[in-house]
Amino acid sequence: MERDYRKDFPLLMQDRTVYLDNAATAQRPQCVIDAEMDFYKNHNANPLRGTYPLSVEATDIYEQARARVAQFIHAASTEEVIFTRNTTEGINLVAYSYGLTNLKAGDEILVSIMEHHSNLLPWQMAARMTGASLKFLECGKDGSVDLDLVEKLITDRTKLVAVTQISNVLGRENPVREIAAIAHKKGAVVVVDGAQSTPHKKIDVQALDADFFAFSGHKLFGPMGIGVLYGKKALLDQMPPFLSGGEMIDSVTREGAKFAELPHKFEAGTVNAAGTAGLLAAIDYIEGIGFDEMERRELAVTERALSGLKEIPHVHVLGSERAEEHTGILTFVVDQVHPHDVSEVLIADGISVRAGHHCAQPLLQYLGVNSATRASFMFYNTKEEADRLVKSIASIRERMGYGR
Ligand code: PMP
Repeated sequence: MERDYRKDFPLLMQDRTVYLDNAATAQRPQCVIDAEMDFYKNHNANPLRGTYPLSVEATDIYEQARARVAQFIHAASTEEVIFTRNTTEGINLVAYSYGLTNLKAGDEILVSIMEHHSNLLPWQMAARMTGASLKFLECGKDGSVDLDLVEKLITDRTKLVAVTQISNVLGRENPVREIAAIAHKKGAVVVVDGAQSTPHKKIDVQALDADFFAFSGHKLFGPMGIGVLYGKKALLDQMPPFLSGGEMIDSVTREGAKFAELPHKFEAGTVNAAGTAGLLAAIDYIEGIGFDEMERRELAVTERALSGLKEIPHVHVLGSERAEEHTGILTFVVDQVHPHDVSEVLIADGISVRAGHHCAQPLLQYLGVNSATRASFMFYNTKEEADRLVKSIASIRERMGYGR
């Protein structure tokens, strides 16, 4: 008997919708909701400062979560794990702190064309402020990355390479380890956007040899408002703080301050300890099931939906032909029907999907579409849900007054 994981998710049990916007945010299992609530009910105090028992408890929870995250992504030490609000904040931290101090006029930043705006705009800002220039790594229409092209584009002038591990539009995994090896040969640092990969696959930041790796708790079943930036200690040690104020100092005088050691140097202000309690519970939940099992289930529903969509004339799925190369993400267009109308029809049929540019406008422009509809699956989605999606899409052109 297959275990019914949907029972772990109170919102899924309400049967309100076929939830296929998992790439935007996942649903939360009860254990994550309980862990966050438990913090406020039983351990609430401002962590890292007080010496009274409640504050010590709050600090312990916060630091346990850090240790759990370090283990989860295989960081070499807890000092390399910085809590942020989300992926966006983690990448901005690197752009402001590392970027503004290390980049200069004449340097190049290489970004892939498939970056989410969160891994593009911070680099546009850093380029504007330092005089460095941005170069783009384009992919094949199927989302593939040509490593020979990477070799050509990374030169002695390249100081930083920003790449997503998995695109939030195409769902295909990029060869991050190989890209990092090429970048390191030329002395460039590599910033990896792990927002879409961490919910779906085992991450080993040391094996990837990423210099920085950012992700969000909410995409991996954890709370909103808690994220992680991993950075190699040798780099983080040299970097100035991003935000300054309370909690990130060792001592302060009228004239200046001595900053706290890692990782606190980068965690200014009161931290989201309840969020870390939820994140810890989310990691326990994921590891209790295992990525192999999650991937197996997710692939089965993705395959079902993709093969159904391929049968429908006038429907085009962006990216690879193969379900294995989608990580549960199917972004598609329907000839002559605006993606917003597509999503409205799906919503009318009780299916929650998203339409638009998915915060990856340069990629959509490059692929020759203005906007698209995205259905994104998680391990808890079912084949029946995949079938409902396909059936609904198959009827769209007729319902919009076009032929089948
Ligand atoms: N990068 C990618 C690939 C994403 O999919 C997302 C979320 N849509 C982000 C970055 C930004 O994540 P957050 O909004 O949690 O900062």
